[in-house]
Amino acid sequence: MAVAKLLQVGGIFQDIYEQQRHRDALTARAGLEKATDARSRDLLTLYSLNQGPIATTLENTREPFLAVETAPPGKNVYPWDLTEKEFQAYLTANPGERQTLTHLRHVVRRADAGSLARDLAVLRRHAVLDALHPGLREKLTRLAQTPNRTTLYAVPYSIVYADESIRAHRLLHEAADAVGGDDEEFARFLRNRARDLLTDDYEAGDASWLKGRFKHLNAQIGAYETYDDELLGTRAFYSLSLLALRTEESVALRKALQGIQSLEDSLPIDRHKRVIENIPVGVYDVIADFGQARGGNTATNLPNEAYLVDRYGSIILLRANIMRDPDIFGGSNRTWTSVMAREFHADLTVDAEFYRTLWHEVGHYLGPDKTRDNGEFDAVLGADAGLLEEMKADLVSLFVGRELRARNYFTESQLTSHYASGIRRVLQNNKPRREQPYNMMQLMQWNWFLDRGVLRVDRASGTISIDYARYHDAVRDLLKEVLAVQDSGDKRAATVFIDRWGTWDDSLHGRTAATIREQQRFRFRLFEYAALGK
Ligand SMILES: [Zn+2]
Repeated sequence: MAVAKLLQVGGIFQDIYEQQRHRDALTARAGLEKATDARSRDLLTLYSLNQGPIATTLENTREPFLAVETAPPGKNVYPWDLTEKEFQAYLTANPGERQTLTHLRHVVRRADAGSLARDLAVLRRHAVLDALHPGLREKLTRLAQTPNRTTLYAVPYSIVYADESIRAHRLLHEAADAVGGDDEEFARFLRNRARDLLTDDYEAGDASWLKGRFKHLNAQIGAYETYDDELLGTRAFYSLSLLALRTEESVALRKALQGIQSLEDSLPIDRHKRVIENIPVGVYDVIADFGQARGGNTATNLPNEAYLVDRYGSIILLRANIMRDPDIFGGSNRTWTSVMAREFHADLTVDAEFYRTLWHEVGHYLGPDKTRDNGEFDAVLGADAGLLEEMKADLVSLFVGRELRARNYFTESQLTSHYASGIRRVLQNNKPRREQPYNMMQLMQWNWFLDRGVLRVDRASGTISIDYARYHDAVRDLLKEVLAVQDSGDKRAATVFIDRWGTWDDSLHGRTAATIREQQRFRFRLFEYAALGK
């Protein structure tokens, strides 16, 4: 019963997520759902693959496939016509508004009469939201006296998506009632998170999520990741993942993570934090994913806000059925064998992909989570903060390999496979766009490995070889650079670093990418879960 309620919340979040990504998404989807012809059904499949009316093509460009405009970088969580320049100028001129205008869970709007009237109507319709956001009604009323398109204001998500948030709140309480007899701690989490959805402050729910020990089910619920905000990288987009615990594997994993402090202390930087030894890490099977969490997501590591991580640590949810999925590994393995020299073909294993991802997530736990003078990465590094954080996590995973071998956590061949998986990860099938953090940081590693002689490309055949002897030191040195940029919080240094290593040479990278694309018979994969009855 609890599962059914949580799946309904997922459906609500799916709708919100699509609205966040494109202002015409739900209208476009409704049009397709009404139509009965075969072409509309195909377009609906394309819509659900892309979670909206914009598709990413094989050439890695974004094109609308329905009669809608291309979405701007800030998508539908900023005014459609807002540029970064206008926004930054506004923030500089109105420092008092900065906090709400850059808030993780607020939408930015122009103070025109229509927008203000709609938001005020929501506050009148839902007394609970008016009560939970004191001062907001007064502020909007004041703005409505002299509406002005050049004035910007911020509205909390609970008010922008009010009807959805209220329904999700009730459903989460019903789920909590259904599961409470069996798992009181999970029920408490659901009730706290229900309230968070109306206050836009996730501390209560995050605390019970991170500190609770749940029996069978776990769930990521709410707006967390900011990757979809390509304007500033500060807006969170909605997601829900429902997960079933794999008990035995989770216990084994926690044991392996003891002694994590010495890994932190070994990182190539001169300051180290105290790491919580008892990380709430678990191995799960995904029951269903919605919104931002949908797709080939292999792990969750949350929250992102430094003050919450300071107080409560973070949670790592590994998705075993995604990571060990034979189809997905088959695809990775075909990529691998198509571009690597024959002697390396056997080095990539499904197990290694699992461990690399696991230690990537642990990697987010290690290293500084603020700049040396206590700045938040997002605030000082902007959209590149995410890129650097992901790059750090990738590199920590590879960096600790040698120590994990010394502790007999890895055998010699597992270490080799760990390294091979790190290489497989960075090979691209297309030139990344600058605003794609994962692909960009992978390309940077690819270039670094070439520069350091870890990778060599055979001119005649185009196949790639690995010099494992150079691997650890190359990883250590690149990690040192990433940590130094994070530590300094120097936005200019970050740009120089990314531009220096994010280069693309068609005769080199392009050749490998073309080989990979050729064998990718299934470019798009539709994720289906039995729970959704698809
Ligand atoms: Zn990550």
